[in-house]
Amino acid sequence: MNKGLLSVDEALEVLLSRAQPVAGIEEIPTLEATGRVLARPQRSTMDVPPMDNSAMDGYAIRLVDLQKGKKLKVAQKIMAGSVGMELSKGTAARIFTGAPIPPGADAVVMQEFCTLDGDEVTVNRIPKPAEWIRYAASDVKKGGEILSAGTRLQPQDSGLAASVGLKTLPVFRKIRLGLFFTGDELVMPGEPLPPGRIYNSNRFTLRGLAETFGCEIRDYGIVPDSLDATREALRRAAAECDVIVTSGGVSVGDADFVKPAVEAEGSLLMWKIAMKPGRPLAFGKVGNADFIGLPGNPVSSFVTFLIFVRPFLLKKQGLSNVQARGIAARADFDWMEPDARREFLRVKWNAQGGLDLYPTQDSAVLTPTAWADGLVDNPAGRAIRRGETVRFLPYSELYR
Ligand code: AMP
Ligand code: MG
Repeated sequence: MNKGLLSVDEALEVLLSRAQPVAGIEEIPTLEATGRVLARPQRSTMDVPPMDNSAMDGYAIRLVDLQKGKKLKVAQKIMAGSVGMELSKGTAARIFTGAPIPPGADAVVMQEFCTLDGDEVTVNRIPKPAEWIRYAASDVKKGGEILSAGTRLQPQDSGLAASVGLKTLPVFRKIRLGLFFTGDELVMPGEPLPPGRIYNSNRFTLRGLAETFGCEIRDYGIVPDSLDATREALRRAAAECDVIVTSGGVSVGDADFVKPAVEAEGSLLMWKIAMKPGRPLAFGKVGNADFIGLPGNPVSSFVTFLIFVRPFLLKKQGLSNVQARGIAARADFDWMEPDARREFLRVKWNAQGGLDLYPTQDSAVLTPTAWADGLVDNPAGRAIRRGETVRFLPYSELYR
């Protein structure tokens, strides 16, 4: 453990212990529920499928009839959406996929195994009992839980809810996230870039991330490096938002006003975290809003957002599982001079199913984060040899 530095896990523990899930629950149309966090478990009020039905186009038959011969009279035709009559002795029902099995039938023969001649069908292959019948409640039983609370609804979850007739779903309200970006050097794309200035790339990265996690965003743009301007931005954001995330100004340089501003408007913990990229992180409260101040360095703010802000936001949103799921993957590279801090290395899948490392892991360059498919979570001081297994955090896992 580095002296004076907090570990990633220690910082996460404090952060998560203070993340209170939003209280508000709203009932919204199931058609608009994908991406939202389900607030209450959902049970089915019906069996799915609601009745025994055919899994094939073919003929519904009584197996006992086929002991005497292969020919049956086609006495009825049952389409999906209609209901047939009881199957009488020695008859078959022409049936289509999804149509209800008529009472008395105990199997369906695929039409490919039948020959039709007038109103008589010859069954060329005897089916097994229950063949091609989808039984009532075989998918979902009435009263059974179909969706658990605290999960982000995927498209197929909304479909499942709809399949049992749920027209609306209770979800947690979206959290309002305020963003601002400190730095006198910052300029927006589209404006000329005077000497010494840089474009405000963090606005694009962090806002994109906040959108990915389903927040309602208030973007206050660039805030100059002054105590008054920073305090003013904080007050405004605190009045309108649940969480405030900022970039820059959290070091202890002459132009770093986030610390004194948050202290003046609320309360603050300043952390130096044993991670690379990353290091300074500010965490506090302004009014009722939670505050997280990320470093200005574009790679650091991107990585610290994923490692700290992400689980914090997910917990506030009411998600029960906020851990990023790491995957064991093979390193197709050597990393022989590991840092004494836990590192998040920019890597990419290769065609052999292993991971390649971007040639430079310099925290000041953004290119590798765009090139990468994710981050290797490398413990402090661990050298990696080609072929070894590492913990990979793909963006696809971090972005959910
Ligand atoms: P700071 O944390 O304010 O000391 O900033 C650290 C480094 O990140 C400096 O080189 C800043 O110019 C740069 N930086 C700060 N904010 C941004 C931003 N919004 N977009 C791009 N780079 C930034
Ligand atoms: Mg700055």
